[in-house]
Amino acid sequence: MSMTTNQHPVTIAIVNGIVWTGEPDKPWAEAVALSGDRIAAVGSTAEIRLRVSPQTKVIDAHGGMVVPGFIDSHVHFLAGGMNLASVQLRDARTPSDFIARIKAFAATVPRGTWITGGDWDHENWGGDLPQRSWIDSITPDNPVWVNRLDGHMALANSAAMRAAGVPMSGGDVAGGTITRDASGQPSGIFKDNAQELIDRSVPDPDPAILDRALDAAMTYANERGVTSVDHMGTWSDLAVYERAHAAGKLRTRIYAAVPLSTWARLRDTVAARGRGDSWLRIGGLKGFVDGSLGSHTAAMMQPFTDAPGDSGLLVNTPENLYLWTSNADKANLHVIVHAIGDRAINLQLGIFERVERENGARDRRFRIEHAQHIAPPDIPRFGELGVIPSMQPYHAIDDGRWAEKVIGPARARTTYAFRALRDTRARLAFGSDWPVAPATPLEGIYAAVTRRTLDDKHPGGWIPEQKIAVEDALRAYTGGGAYASFEEREKGSLAPGKLADVVIIDRDLTKIAPETIRGAKIDYTIVGGRIVYDRNAASQ
Ligand SMILES: [Zn+2]
Repeated sequence: MSMTTNQHPVTIAIVNGIVWTGEPDKPWAEAVALSGDRIAAVGSTAEIRLRVSPQTKVIDAHGGMVVPGFIDSHVHFLAGGMNLASVQLRDARTPSDFIARIKAFAATVPRGTWITGGDWDHENWGGDLPQRSWIDSITPDNPVWVNRLDGHMALANSAAMRAAGVPMSGGDVAGGTITRDASGQPSGIFKDNAQELIDRSVPDPDPAILDRALDAAMTYANERGVTSVDHMGTWSDLAVYERAHAAGKLRTRIYAAVPLSTWARLRDTVAARGRGDSWLRIGGLKGFVDGSLGSHTAAMMQPFTDAPGDSGLLVNTPENLYLWTSNADKANLHVIVHAIGDRAINLQLGIFERVERENGARDRRFRIEHAQHIAPPDIPRFGELGVIPSMQPYHAIDDGRWAEKVIGPARARTTYAFRALRDTRARLAFGSDWPVAPATPLEGIYAAVTRRTLDDKHPGGWIPEQKIAVEDALRAYTGGGAYASFEEREKGSLAPGKLADVVIIDRDLTKIAPETIRGAKIDYTIVGGRIVYDRNAASQ
């Protein structure tokens, strides 16, 4: 019994649980003992009780499920934190609701303050894109720059366009689109690379605001059972995390990826300072092949079903993607690339294959983020090449409401192909893409297991043959995530010696009706042996 191998004092004992360890040879137990920031033992309640001392905090799980802390493998953590404090447009159901929310928010901020965030979704009201004319009269003194929930397009009001010096005439930007009204003037919608025309004029938030955003993001994550995130961001984001880490304030472990094109800077930083520790790690580089399906900027092999003649776009050239991938790989860095359309995925798989052949064998764990719409012949290549599909199951039940309109029924068969990827031995990592979707693993597990779209129009599941089992989804949110950041020896399962990152859920997800999974509650979240969320304490 492993419990006798470690005799450090037990600080927390979790008993009477249904413990899913994530360890293939011993997947189930009843109790877990923590000692400081490590797991001391996993076993039966009787065995763990023998380790309890007067100093031990005993948590009775009351038959709830105890799992490794959830790893969200794809978030934009500071953007999410900023959004928690900004205008909320995600659930605006009509254009007038959209307008009213912006008007109400504008009344709460000083003149001249930029209003950003938003996360609107024009599919909520049938697909008409918002225009600056909707909001100009209610926001004369505040630049407004609010993004669609996928981040691939955003709406500027006239004040924002003036502040950014965007001309009323003038062409598109490579890899981007400026939507125009009947008179040929910009309507306020800027897509993909065209967003840079406004982005460059948005003032940086001051450090105190960013620190608050990070704190809000960690609280949000902890409430949802998320103990680690892979953050897709910038060097300035990394500076915020470093500040929090130095002050001992991190409550969520962060693997912070920086832009792929800056691989040389990361190589030099890693050479000078190493890759960090279990709270804050670097070494990952995030690149982009294409845009998103909702913006019609995913790169497809064939045109979109609802836009013949348009097959999306590449946001970087294949030459640059190859050079960055190859150079980063030669520098022993971890290459993580966004690819959504089948043409984008095919292109990046080809680059990964070529780079591996040219640079030789090593444990490189290339990742494709999203991997949403895969051409059928490319599905087994993930397993064969060892490329990690880092996917967001919530997107499937969100996009599933309208995706067939955009790609048609045939391509939909291999969309969000969790099951087919699993069956061809790909190692799935799951996440949310928060703030694009809620960073709620229980919702993600529900989505992967049921594939019931948010409008509930597919009660048996949208493309039901791509459903996976609860344990598969749990693995993708725990061990799969740990593997995807080279940390499977430290976390991702409950075993003696691993980090004490543990979540207690109020019911056993494997025993309840799948459609009720999203109703389960997180009772406790423990990170590094410290209780960072306690539902009972939170509700008092
Ligand atoms: Zn993302």
